[in-house]
Amino acid sequence: MTDIPFHVPMLGEQEIEAVANALRDGWLTTGPLSLKFEEEFAAYVGARHAVTVASGTAALHLALRVAGVREGDEVITTPYTFVAVSEAILYLHARPVFVDIDPRTLNIAPDAVARAVTPKTKAILPVHMAGYPCEMESLRSTAEQHGLTLVEDAAHALPSDYDGRRIGSISTLTAFSFYATKNLTTGEGGMITTNDPALAERIKVLRLHGISGDAWKRYTKGGRWYYEVVENGYKYNLGDVQSAIGLVQLKKLDQMYGIRRRHDQLYREALADCPVILPPAEDEKRRSALHLFIIRLDSQRTSWSREAFIEALQEERIFPSVHFIPVHLHPYYQAMGYRRSMYPEAERAYDQAISLPFYPAMPDSSVERLLDTVRRLLLREPP
Ligand SMILES: *Cc1c(COP(=O)(O)O)cnc(C)c1O
Repeated sequence: MTDIPFHVPMLGEQEIEAVANALRDGWLTTGPLSLKFEEEFAAYVGARHAVTVASGTAALHLALRVAGVREGDEVITTPYTFVAVSEAILYLHARPVFVDIDPRTLNIAPDAVARAVTPKTKAILPVHMAGYPCEMESLRSTAEQHGLTLVEDAAHALPSDYDGRRIGSISTLTAFSFYATKNLTTGEGGMITTNDPALAERIKVLRLHGISGDAWKRYTKGGRWYYEVVENGYKYNLGDVQSAIGLVQLKKLDQMYGIRRRHDQLYREALADCPVILPPAEDEKRRSALHLFIIRLDSQRTSWSREAFIEALQEERIFPSVHFIPVHLHPYYQAMGYRRSMYPEAERAYDQAISLPFYPAMPDSSVERLLDTVRRLLLREPP
């Protein structure tokens, strides 16, 4: 029996060749390939500007920083996410204000966002869970009403559409991640998109030590050695070796997404009569990037616990994961005063959630064995 790991990236000879060429070229750090990756990525999501950065976490940090988030400000976000979100808020000495999720979509509940606004609120940071788009219309109206900046976490949302527009083209700032498990990977990496040229320029300055202008131009023919530091920046740039991988992955993205779509259909059909809650259905207004396939054990219909079910899968050499441990349940946040029962929908979803292995590199035989096994286990009671 071959293992079915949680994730295998879809990398091939094209990426290997692109990396070899980038190494032969010898530039290595941020340069022409990163510029090209930015241009092609911006065109793909329909944004005016895209800026490469070292990670999705760096993208969130810089996006919040240029949104003007400062010490003492509040940023409204979801506890049902990866810790990078609140971590980036805390980097700026601002306060993450968690509000509960809509249990149907696992996304931040827009009415709860509206209720959480205070005079200290500076930004709203929604996360498109598993790629299913948040209620952007409602979030935008709250943001406009109170003069807040919308910063989207689109780590899962490539390519997602809301109301005919691609995520990455809608809000003031959108952060993407190219971590190893994401829909497009560069190993480690990230991107910020915006339609505002001044914000894009400021992000470029901040990602490289606060040095004004495009520092890499200093090394080009006719470039100059002189530079000026205009503010306290970061070392958050992305190298050309990574961008070389990103360029190939971007060309393959629609093809990889097509496979996700086909797998999504197979998973839904196979699990339709099982005692689980499936990911929310898409409609004319909402198209998901299908980043994760999260099932939730329906406690009304099955006595399987999440732990027992994961163990049973592991015995079958299938390795699922869990997205996410709500941020407020981690010891660091408990020490800040957060408690279980503060966000009941996020906690309930967590107690039931299992992310099945779901990725375009999964062979058909593994998809078949996975779905047969999950069905067989779910349709009988736990041992
Ligand atoms: C992966 C992820 C991030 C962080 O991205 P990195 O590139 O790993 O820094 C942020 N938010 C969410 C929701 C993620 O899944």
